[in-house]
Amino acid sequence: MPATVGAKASIGVARNLRAGAGVKRILVANAFFDDLRINGPNPFKVPQAMAPVYLAGAFSREHCKVRIYNEHYSGPLEDEGLLGWPDMLVLTGLTVAFDRMLHLTAYARSKNPKVIVVAGGPAVRAMPNYAQRFFDYVCLGDVEQIREVIIEAFGKRYLDEQMIPRYDLVRHFGGLGYLESSRNCNFKCTFCSLTGENGRYQRYNLDTIRRQVYAMGKRRHVAFIDNNFYGNDRNFFLARMELLRELRGQGYFRGWSALLTSDFFAKDDNLTLAREAGCEGLFSGFESFDDNVLRLYNKRQNTVLPQTEIIRKSLDAGIVFGYGIMLDVSNRHIADIRREIDFILTAPEITLPSYFSLTIPMLGTPYFDECVARQLLLPNLRLRDLDGFTLTTRPLDPLPDVVPLVRGLPNLRGYRRKVVRKAVQFLHLHRRRLNAFQVTLMMANVALLCAPTLLNNPAGLRLRSPNRTHVGGTEAPDRLYRPAFRVASRYRGHFMQTMVTDADGGLAEHLLEERALALRSQQAAPGASRRRAAARR
Ligand code: SF4
Repeated sequence: MPATVGAKASIGVARNLRAGAGVKRILVANAFFDDLRINGPNPFKVPQAMAPVYLAGAFSREHCKVRIYNEHYSGPLEDEGLLGWPDMLVLTGLTVAFDRMLHLTAYARSKNPKVIVVAGGPAVRAMPNYAQRFFDYVCLGDVEQIREVIIEAFGKRYLDEQMIPRYDLVRHFGGLGYLESSRNCNFKCTFCSLTGENGRYQRYNLDTIRRQVYAMGKRRHVAFIDNNFYGNDRNFFLARMELLRELRGQGYFRGWSALLTSDFFAKDDNLTLAREAGCEGLFSGFESFDDNVLRLYNKRQNTVLPQTEIIRKSLDAGIVFGYGIMLDVSNRHIADIRREIDFILTAPEITLPSYFSLTIPMLGTPYFDECVARQLLLPNLRLRDLDGFTLTTRPLDPLPDVVPLVRGLPNLRGYRRKVVRKAVQFLHLHRRRLNAFQVTLMMANVALLCAPTLLNNPAGLRLRSPNRTHVGGTEAPDRLYRPAFRVASRYRGHFMQTMVTDADGGLAEHLLEERALALRSQQAAPGASRRRAAARR
């Protein structure tokens, strides 16, 4: 039986995985399926996953040889030599990538039956019991819990006490670097996996942030990938501005950007402080320009100021502003959604969004529970369908009206002319306030919105699947569900799609079991297990 590791779970090992002395080979992989189902490299997409960089830092530099493979950046990992190389395979990835983690496990075990496979990430946290069927270690907590696994599997000498991120092991594009200054979020939007996991908002201390910058080395621009950079502690914000001013003065970067929530803009001097500290860009998950939609998701922090005013204030301060838009076809009519898209793509004073996607019923979130209660989930839905570009819930309007919208989302088919016209107008209006780097960012955003494959993976243009339906439960499996090379027959099941619903639209059996187990553990020890139960709900 595999072990479950994490603050939210007990630790135990039922299999003797302790290895002998000597250097251990560690492969940390970020599993990824791409939105267009072409599954090639996406080196120009920002941000890139940083969990592998943090995880890799936990292994002793003296006693371990560590490699990182990021499928998002480099495309599918199908190198038989690399897959047969490690003593330990550490897997992470978004919820949608769970099946891909199974593929990589099957490959690695077929090549080396003794490999230890460790898995973490939101899907594993949402389905801990199901995940235990496939991996040796199932981590339910934060990245630091890899330390417990290392000690348990290899011994303490294989651990790096400082856990300095291994930026030296990844390729970087265009002088960009990524880091975190906080973890989780102080808000509770109903669709967000952080809400489902009930994680507490945590600040890093300033020394940790400084160490990350030193480890990264000098970059043109660093991007903070915190879920909410502003957070709920203004003193911490002020201290970080001070630190960033100092590090910038020392030449570690020329500018920085961050993801944050709209409450940041309620205080006018925040923007001034950020600009003085070198801020060049901000991003917020607006989700919608309609406050009624935001209230549906308990995203009230985004209703403190009109979104157009936030964008205008940022631009006035010389900061480019990016945002994402979520389209909920189960709660809104297509005509209403198209009106909002038209508004966004024609109003000259606002920036273009970074993406339009569908609302995803992420496992474990209140929004997922709501979809289950309202019987909105489509039948035969697969975990792979939860990518934001495949219909997963019953729409208000008939499918023939909805599918064209969904089909066009990944590359804005039907809207490209408007996007280009708006980009030209926008640059004409604002170019004097922006530096060359910011203009390049905006141009790259236009290209990623309209032609992501052309930019990231030109060879992928000929691989586009003509048979896509864009309706969850009816899509043919990606080519990645066919093994890239011979795998042991006992791993055939690893290439089956993980189901979310059954043929009637009810929850798949393993998710029902997951719920029953969570409920049982809650009832057995209501006080002690509350946190764990919340993470497993
Ligand atoms: S503000 Fe963003 S990170 Fe925070 S709960 Fe909402 S969606 Fe999640």
